[in-house]
Amino acid sequence: MKITDVKTAATRGHGMHLWVRIETDSPFTGIGECVHGGAQAIAIIQNLRQRLIGRDPFAIDAIFEEMRRRHVFDGGSAGALITALTGIELALWDLKGKALSVPVYELLGGKFREKIRVYADCEVNPGMDFGTVRHAVDSVLEKGFTAFKIDVDGGEYKNKDRFNWTTSEFEHERMVRLIEMACTAAGPEIGVAADVHTRLDVPSAIRLARDCEQFHLLWLEEPVPPENIDAMREVKRSTSTPICCGENLYLRHGFRELIEKQAADIIMPDIPKCGGLSECRKIANLAELYYIPLAPHNVSSPIGTMASCHVCATVPNFLIIEFHWTQRDYWTTIIQEKRDIIQDGYIALTDRPGIGVELDESVARQHQFPGTTWFE
Ligand code: MG
Repeated sequence: MKITDVKTAATRGHGMHLWVRIETDSPFTGIGECVHGGAQAIAIIQNLRQRLIGRDPFAIDAIFEEMRRRHVFDGGSAGALITALTGIELALWDLKGKALSVPVYELLGGKFREKIRVYADCEVNPGMDFGTVRHAVDSVLEKGFTAFKIDVDGGEYKNKDRFNWTTSEFEHERMVRLIEMACTAAGPEIGVAADVHTRLDVPSAIRLARDCEQFHLLWLEEPVPPENIDAMREVKRSTSTPICCGENLYLRHGFRELIEKQAADIIMPDIPKCGGLSECRKIANLAELYYIPLAPHNVSSPIGTMASCHVCATVPNFLIIEFHWTQRDYWTTIIQEKRDIIQDGYIALTDRPGIGVELDESVARQHQFPGTTWFE
């Protein structure tokens, strides 16, 4: 089998959802997805197209590593180039599974578990009163989720210098109060994670993490920016609140120092962004050496989400994966299956070949990202 073409389309979802279709000289095609690559990733994939045509699509790791090394001076360590390769990588796994008539998890080593636990990104934000928080939490728990995440940063702050990340007394107390309200509304059996999106400095982060210890959070997410691993470790070692980070890192090379220094309690690679299925399985295995669990960040459609679940199924240290679409119908309409892949807070793995979920182009095209082409 040979690759005969590589095509892209893009929809407006959580930012841009970028679709990659690999065509071959056989009846089989593969569909992949990547997020956060933007228009740059489309241009990169179009540039790589000629190098992919004629290749054996089954040599997935070799294709990925060859393309990455060839462009090591053009961003082959992180960013849009890696995300573009990730979209290609997911499509190659889908294609290989379909051509061999097996689910991708069988190609990755087989399952540790039958279903994948999912948490919901809950629409709880700073400034809400308890009644509003309880309503938002109840609407998530009614769907069967056993865990959720809230955003505790942001909102309007009087006299706030947006470039300084030291929290004021008002900001700190508002964050702690919001977390307390969410935990009270959730009850003791439900996991609650809190995200501060890299927006604190070290002393503010340590103070918040310590004041959250009483709530036994599932985790506190990205308390400080991701690029200084020693600062992240300083926060982690100062508190019993679990610290989770990694959605802004790429490749196993990007995770190596974080894992080796045990600077996080939980890692959260975004699988359809930071390197794809093979790479994230290696990242998870590296974390497993230090008994660090994997809780992937995820803002992709059901296709990227299900692709991520094939990794989650095949590593021992999987904890939980994100779902970010509670308020949007795109989630169920954009796939041919027309049913929510999440049932009672879990995604079950099926016996379908490849990734196991198919894009409904007629619906997807209604969400076409302005200024992009459609599988041309
Ligand atoms: Mg986050």
